Amino acid sequence: MQQSDNLSAVLFKKGDLRLVQTPIPSKPGNNEVLLATQSVGICGSDVHYWVEGRIGSYVVNEPIIMGHETSATVVEVGEGVQHLKPGDRVAIEPGVPCRKCNHCKVGKYNLCANIFFHATPPDNGTLTRYFKHAADFCFKLPDNVSFEEGALLEPLSVAVYACKRAGVTIGSNVLICGAGPIGLVSLLASKAFGASRVCITDINEKRLQTAKDLGADCILNVINIKNTNEIVDCVKQCFGRSPDITIECSGAEASIKLAILATESGGCVQLVGMGPSEVTVPLLSACCREVDIRGIFRYRNSYPQALELVASGKVNVKPLITHRFTLEETLKAFETAKNGEGIKVMINCAKN
Ligand code: NAD
Ligand code: ZN
Repeated sequence: MQQSDNLSAVLFKKGDLRLVQTPIPSKPGNNEVLLATQSVGICGSDVHYWVEGRIGSYVVNEPIIMGHETSATVVEVGEGVQHLKPGDRVAIEPGVPCRKCNHCKVGKYNLCANIFFHATPPDNGTLTRYFKHAADFCFKLPDNVSFEEGALLEPLSVAVYACKRAGVTIGSNVLICGAGPIGLVSLLASKAFGASRVCITDINEKRLQTAKDLGADCILNVINIKNTNEIVDCVKQCFGRSPDITIECSGAEASIKLAILATESGGCVQLVGMGPSEVTVPLLSACCREVDIRGIFRYRNSYPQALELVASGKVNVKPLITHRFTLEETLKAFETAKNGEGIKVMINCAKN
């Protein structure tokens, strides 16, 4: 190997993100590939670790490399790797499970307690020049899918999985709460899954306008509506009836309440947003009206479908990218993401 530069964005502790050189990874082992990072999208969780030093029980106790929404180029393949060769362009599914536990064996590998996940402490992420990854968690990109789109397959996989769990299908009426990056990809995925009408809420007008541009049938700014029943009525007006499915992508307590009350009896509330650990919600309404409340944790078996949606042109994720930086400008990129001005901040990690 000729590489000598492995500039990496390392979070040393809360508030202390720095660019430093880290060792270039050793030769890839069995079923592993050595990758040169291309595009990395910044996720709310990256910013959260930087600002707070933790998310729930995941605490930054030792320095970790940030970043997990990634595309890369294959540099070297280890023994047993069949489907990839040096030079291939790939999207990286960032979670590699143990493959041995019961959850893994039944295919629910996202629930594996021993999963390795980029940039979730203590596991290093991909805001670096080179890293190694399990070959079968690398998805070869066709020529018509860019590196940036490859990185965006990560949040899109969350949305694909949410749509699958919630049962979005042809003719569904879907309410989406929250028009952040996850709400917006959920809008795109819902449409691609066949939803007839999608209504989306937020308290930020700019984000709602983006949702409109991306194809939302109806946008609803709830900032000045204090009474949840009033919002439920507005939602009904949007659809002409109650939505079958609500995908909650804000994590806000008021929004989870709305999700339950607005959803048609017998329908489903799909929780995606992660807010406070405990919230007060109208559970009796969900119980008596048989509204199922489902959670999701990241995604499983969804990268291939996310890639198909982008490669076939059924989903266009490109308009989500509002800012671009180089790896050297990582701090500026994190500041921009923190300020919430844009939607998706992209970092180009390739050496110029
Ligand atoms: P984000 O913070 O950018 O977006 C949240 C949006 O919700 C913002 O636009 C905000 O204005 C809006 N909002 C706040 N209060 C609201 C209210 N009362 N009603 C409607 N909208 C409201 O975050 P994101 O990156 O889009 O992620 C969304 C959520 O999904 C986060 O909580 C994140 O932690 C979670 N998430 C969960 C998973 C999972 O596996 N379950 C995966 C990825 C992200
Ligand atoms: Zn496992």
